[in-house]
Amino acid sequence: MNAAKIFLSNFRNFGELDLELDAAINIFLGRNAQGKTNILEAIHFASLGSSRAAKDSELVRWGETSAVVRIDFVKAGISHRLAIEVAAEKRRRILLDGISTRLRNLIGRLATVMFSPEDLFMFKGAPAVRRRFLDAVISQASPVYFADLTAYNRIVEQRNNLLKKIREGLSAPNNLELWNEQLAETAAKIVTKRLEAVEKLNAVAAAVQQKISTQTENLSICYDVRGLQDLSRPQNFDAEWYSQNLQARNFADVQRGSTSLGPHLDDLQFFLNGRELRQYGSQGQIRTTTLALKLSELQFLKAAAGEYPILLLDDVMSELDAARREQLLTFLLREKIQTLITATEKTYFPEQPAGKVFHVEGGRIV
Ligand code: ATP
Ligand code: MG
Repeated sequence: MNAAKIFLSNFRNFGELDLELDAAINIFLGRNAQGKTNILEAIHFASLGSSRAAKDSELVRWGETSAVVRIDFVKAGISHRLAIEVAAEKRRRILLDGISTRLRNLIGRLATVMFSPEDLFMFKGAPAVRRRFLDAVISQASPVYFADLTAYNRIVEQRNNLLKKIREGLSAPNNLELWNEQLAETAAKIVTKRLEAVEKLNAVAAAVQQKISTQTENLSICYDVRGLQDLSRPQNFDAEWYSQNLQARNFADVQRGSTSLGPHLDDLQFFLNGRELRQYGSQGQIRTTTLALKLSELQFLKAAAGEYPILLLDDVMSELDAARREQLLTFLLREKIQTLITATEKTYFPEQPAGKVFHVEGGRIV
């Protein structure tokens, strides 16, 4: 996968940007607050249809009414044009090859992997951050998964509304039946896909980690189904299992007014040589593991789509030591992975950078 052209109009601090990308490695240099991250954010936004950080209205340049991100890219040898228009007041418009389309048809078209310093907090952060990581990976590989997830979230919301109504005596408990069935079925589909993905990520992560860490460190990822009562017994998380266990929680769920079982609560655990990273990981180990995880995400998406996604490295060169930076650049060049890297300092790159350098200044490339 390759993005050939990026066009921005009134996106963040860019009035207009017309950018052609013809090298594999693209380095965006500039002082703080010039717009480097905004370029990466635009691509990430076009890839997932959402921004990690912002609401649509915040993406529109101050004082303007709408913003456009347009990306020409080549996938499996075929050129495509993807355009998203966002406005503060209006609904978002997505055009794929000139045809208006829905968000669920957008995910996975332009696959990206983003690595930014905030990812370093993933291990210690709230479970939602780790679920978002996993969901973004799987959704890009499987649009069906994204559709199931959207449906699931809606079902949980509706079940929760009903639980509250029952608690207030405004609805009868046997109305839960229908929602339990729907929830069980969708939950099973999601967890099956997540377990599968974790298994694949584990296989590649272990290999990648060995390559980029100086000591032999063994990374393993565990999917944690929250709310299990009997941990000793192997479980089969199918619709039947969810159905039975939801049923058993009807009363408790009514009391708390929310659904206490399901993939919306599950978590991921990361172990390094058998010890949990969130408790025992040093800063350096966290950096290497995050990098390993991002590279695993690349391999995972490559296996799913037949080609590498676009890699977006925001401000992470300064987080890696010289040896790892070099290993990383060599790997990216060897594998011909289209990469956009931001940095404030040239010093993070070899004398003769193996890519094209762009200077970003005040919302322009100079
Ligand atoms: P750093 O090196 O500090 O990470 P950066 O070059 O990555 O800097 P960006 O995060 O891309 O900088 O942000 C550049 C500027 O864009 C910021 O000063 C921010 O205030 C500005 N900005 C953010 N949103 C908007 C918007 N909607 N309209 C106009 N400017 C905006
Ligand atoms: Mg930045």
